[in-house]
Amino acid sequence: MKPAAFAYAKARSLDDAIRLLGAHKGEAKLLAGGQSLIATLNMRLSSPSLLVDLNGVAGLDGIRVKDAMVEIGALTRHVALERSSDIAKHAPLIALAVPHIAHPAIRNRGTIGGSLAYADPAAELPACLVALDGEIDIVGPGGKRSVKAGDFFQGLFETALGPHDVLSAVRFAAATAETRVGFAELARRHGDYAMVGLAAAAKANGKSLSDVRLVYFGVGATPVRARKAEAALAGGSVDAAVHALDLDPTDDIQATGAVKKHLAGVLLRRVATTLMEPRA
Ligand SMILES: Cc1cc2nc3c(=O)[nH]c(=O)nc-3n(C[C@H](O)[C@H](O)[C@H](O)COP(=O)(O)OP(=O)(O)OC[C@H]3O[C@@H](n4cnc5c(N)ncnc54)[C@H](O)[C@@H]3O)c2cc1C
Repeated sequence: MKPAAFAYAKARSLDDAIRLLGAHKGEAKLLAGGQSLIATLNMRLSSPSLLVDLNGVAGLDGIRVKDAMVEIGALTRHVALERSSDIAKHAPLIALAVPHIAHPAIRNRGTIGGSLAYADPAAELPACLVALDGEIDIVGPGGKRSVKAGDFFQGLFETALGPHDVLSAVRFAAATAETRVGFAELARRHGDYAMVGLAAAAKANGKSLSDVRLVYFGVGATPVRARKAEAALAGGSVDAAVHALDLDPTDDIQATGAVKKHLAGVLLRRVATTLMEPRA
């Protein structure tokens, strides 16, 4: 199929993008990497009257490490994250996750802002941002605001973004010597969206872990924290954490809820091992 007709405008600045969105009263869509948007247009799941192209808006991309924080601009492509020495050093969870996103051609164009704004429940980066307790910067007609990643994902493909808002950047604490991270997913083929995935972060506290955050994807409408399992893992027992897994995945085209719950336990055992290991 081909998309319904739409107009196209290349935004010259963030303000220009917000003005164009406002002028079209909810009928316009932002275009970043186009890797999800163009497919929805082609399938006529979406038929905006205008595409507002963010590519070319200065200052929207790039990776910055400052004051013990990592900030990533919305237009930063997955491939830039994959190849960045700053990400490898200061954001090891993102470094582990990105190679699982789709295939190289898609990673060459897809952006972190597009992935978070699209909010596919089986996507890797939304879960990573929640595991890192990150913040998401949003610029809209009323100015700029920051939203905790845990509050940003509100439902199936639903976020805290309003129709005239632009996601401008994300921010989270840079890894320290105490930081422990783990990532694992099960997909039918490498690069497919996950059947079930787990992004995890914790702090090493002597021989035990504290601040454990276990965030599953592919098991609900949004990234899902397994809070009881987090507490059990901080208590030192992987078996207890698997037993405590407080997830209730529904059936989907990939697997039944029961299979997903079983796989969530398998992933937790794998990730727990890496969380316990000192960083190389
Ligand atoms: C075959 C295939 C396999 C894929 N597999 C995976 C996978 O395994 N894991 C995964 O995570 N992703 C996967 N993707 C999606 C890919 O990661 C996309 O890059 C990503 O979901 C969207 O990023 P984008 O920059 O292409 O956004 P676009 O497609 O340009 O936009 C997506 C949506 O976000 C909105 N948007 C974009 N940028 C902003 C912004 N800055 N502020 C506000 N709204 C914005 C757009 O208006 C649109 O509604 C796959 C895609 C394809 C085609």
